[in-house]
Amino acid sequence: MNKTVSFSKNSINVFFHILTKCNLACRHCYINQEQHGKNSLSITTIGHWLRSFADMSKNTNVIFLGGEPTLHPDLPAAIKKATALGYKSVTVDTNGYLFHDFLYKINPYEVDYISFSMDGATEKVNDTIRGEGSYNKCIAGIKAAVSRGFNTSLIYTVSRENIHELHKMPELLKDLGINRFFIQVIGIRGKSARSQKTHASTGSQDVLQVSKEQWLDVIPDVAEKVSESGITVTYPKVFLSPEEPFECAGLVADNYFIFPNGRVYRCPLCEDFPVHSMIFSNNRLVQTDQINENDLFRLDIPEGCVMNKLIQPENLEYDRYGNPEYKIACCLLKEEISGKK
Ligand code: SF4
Ligand code: SF4
Repeated sequence: MNKTVSFSKNSINVFFHILTKCNLACRHCYINQEQHGKNSLSITTIGHWLRSFADMSKNTNVIFLGGEPTLHPDLPAAIKKATALGYKSVTVDTNGYLFHDFLYKINPYEVDYISFSMDGATEKVNDTIRGEGSYNKCIAGIKAAVSRGFNTSLIYTVSRENIHELHKMPELLKDLGINRFFIQVIGIRGKSARSQKTHASTGSQDVLQVSKEQWLDVIPDVAEKVSESGITVTYPKVFLSPEEPFECAGLVADNYFIFPNGRVYRCPLCEDFPVHSMIFSNNRLVQTDQINENDLFRLDIPEGCVMNKLIQPENLEYDRYGNPEYKIACCLLKEEISGKK
């Protein structure tokens, strides 16, 4: 079944970057150490910060990320703390290198999903984006996780460099025994924003984002095909017709993006700027002063997402009267197709 997953009002999602260090240097990496810090959090601090969100009256999910979270030797201890605090689900997002014998320090019942990132169906395309050797390492990591009984998911960030290989993913995902597939759209933040170069001679830009036509041509079809193997597929909605309702997750959902320098954002598109609405101060979560991201969420514009208009206006198209042809949905609004057996 294909459905739009509206923001859950009854759950909290905590995206917890426990460090920003990584062994890879992917072209589209959104980590920005100037804005997010270079430190690794101690396990004591991770415990304090996890406690701030462990509201037992709501369902709270935690996703451990980095950088590469398995570079943190205390990731298994962090997972156990989250479970002990009553988190409803625990996910680890990894590039597949699985450092510190990670798979052998936790049990499948302690983690709901290990989520691997791969940006091409072939070694050539993936490694061009994520670095030499990363494809084979990721495949080996997935196989090891599946054989040990972990649930696995795979995240594919679509750009102009790899959209042509997406049609090869259904077979690969099935062969690997992946349970869930997440298609992401490349955003202009982090390194992809900083690396948008204008060619001096032509004035043209190295744009990695796919067009609306490419997105709508390819993504729904591939998602449908993947779901036929029993794999649930999730991808961002991105485009809304003028009649479809627009909602900003910053106003109606409980998502928290935590970074090791203590910043806590409610919107991932804000992460390149010092507009976080919360911060950890002496291990207490406090609101930041205005002006911050909350002030942006309240702006009601015909183009939909305010942050999109501010940082990637080239996504928008207007008719001859200056009205937007469509709205850009909140980047956290997803389409989901359940796996069909
Ligand atoms: S694996 Fe993730 S954190 Fe590391 S460079 Fe790639 S995108 Fe960035
Ligand atoms: S992506 Fe746009 S709509 Fe979503 S939370 Fe951020 S500002 Fe709001």
